[in-house]
Amino acid sequence: MDWDDVAEPFIFVEGDIVSYATNEGVYVSVEIVRISCPYCGERFIGNKAHAGQFIFGHSTYHEYIMDRVEKFGGI
Ligand SMILES: [Zn+2]
Repeated sequence: MDWDDVAEPFIFVEGDIVSYATNEGVYVSVEIVRISCPYCGERFIGNKAHAGQFIFGHSTYHEYIMDRVEKFGGI
């Protein structure tokens, strides 16, 4: 089963400039970007701040996995 089968259609599209509110605050005139992880291909569509978290999280995860492989030969 793919995420697209269960998730609501994403209301933001890459390149949109939008304003919206969340529990954390109000985002005003933010650009929606789309990025993907070069290692595993996972994709993210959202504002730049969350895209940065996606990149940082993936870098940290993949570095952890590679460290485990180098030290112990596996996960
Ligand atoms: Zn990844």
